[in-house]
Amino acid sequence: MSTPRARIVPLFIPHAGCPHDCVFCDQRRISGQTAPVTAADVERTLSALTGKGYELAYYGGSFTALPVEEQESLLDAAQPFLRDGTLRALRVSTRPDAIDLSALVRLRAAGVETVELGAQSMDDAVLRAGGRGHGAADTERAARLVRDGGFHLILQMMTGLPGATPESDLDTARRLIALRPDGVRIYPTVILRDTPLEALWKSGRYREHTVEDAVSLCARLLPLFEAAGVPVIRLGLNPTEGLSRGGVVGGAYHPAFGELVLSRVWLERARRLLHGAQPGERLTLGVCKNRISQLTGQGRSNLRALETEFQLASLRVVGVDLPDMELRVMQDT
Ligand code: SF4
Repeated sequence: MSTPRARIVPLFIPHAGCPHDCVFCDQRRISGQTAPVTAADVERTLSALTGKGYELAYYGGSFTALPVEEQESLLDAAQPFLRDGTLRALRVSTRPDAIDLSALVRLRAAGVETVELGAQSMDDAVLRAGGRGHGAADTERAARLVRDGGFHLILQMMTGLPGATPESDLDTARRLIALRPDGVRIYPTVILRDTPLEALWKSGRYREHTVEDAVSLCARLLPLFEAAGVPVIRLGLNPTEGLSRGGVVGGAYHPAFGELVLSRVWLERARRLLHGAQPGERLTLGVCKNRISQLTGQGRSNLRALETEFQLASLRVVGVDLPDMELRVMQDT
């Protein structure tokens, strides 16, 4: 089952007041500066929509960790818009340890269809080092409750957190797959200004997860999820998600991160396909048209790397009538 695609209307719940201490979070800097989203804001946002069938998403915080009255007020504000068809459903993101049966009953009754859990890692040592305040067992328990409650389950993971290794991140991916989510979001760790992570990094106690580290790791994660039939619905932080306010000082931030990863995945595929190519050959790779730029790489980087590695006289790409993810060596004419 894949999560139905709907036009999502995101409303970001401010982090202010969160009692947790995640090292990568910039909540200290923004707390007190961001007004809470109110029922009136919800009403104003939804009234301005034209058309039907939207999905309202409460993102950016731990929805079910808000005081119950606040949750109810935000959920209630959406009800008239569910009744008149402007909204087809709601979704929320939250922490695994903020999920219990009563929270799910409340969400279900209010028309929430999708619950996103910030798992981040399934390695307890990494969760501890990241100050997450929950363990992998919380994620397993919450995921089961969400799925058993009939919700779509989306899991979020981070790569390159303090204490993580490529192997522990790959293991996290395998353990998330075992929870049978309807989709995952992968967020490589970004160092934001004025966060505990920035201090750890500056004092030499954290090695930065570079864009290159994250691209090469995510190019291994993607095929794992793909083989398991789990859609990766986001790769890298959305450039609009508060980054301009937070100020990126390091880490794996790139506005086109997803494209970089897909391009690397194609490079690896082409590398396997060209295994055994003879030096001096002139070769042409065929791929469906909308994958040409990913296979070619930025500034022909993939083709140049392959030409050098296999000592080819030339390598080019043509768009052909092939299934989406297929790649073939074409007969040169
Ligand atoms: S990332 Fe951590 S500290 Fe920041 S709002 Fe979420 S739970 Fe709280």
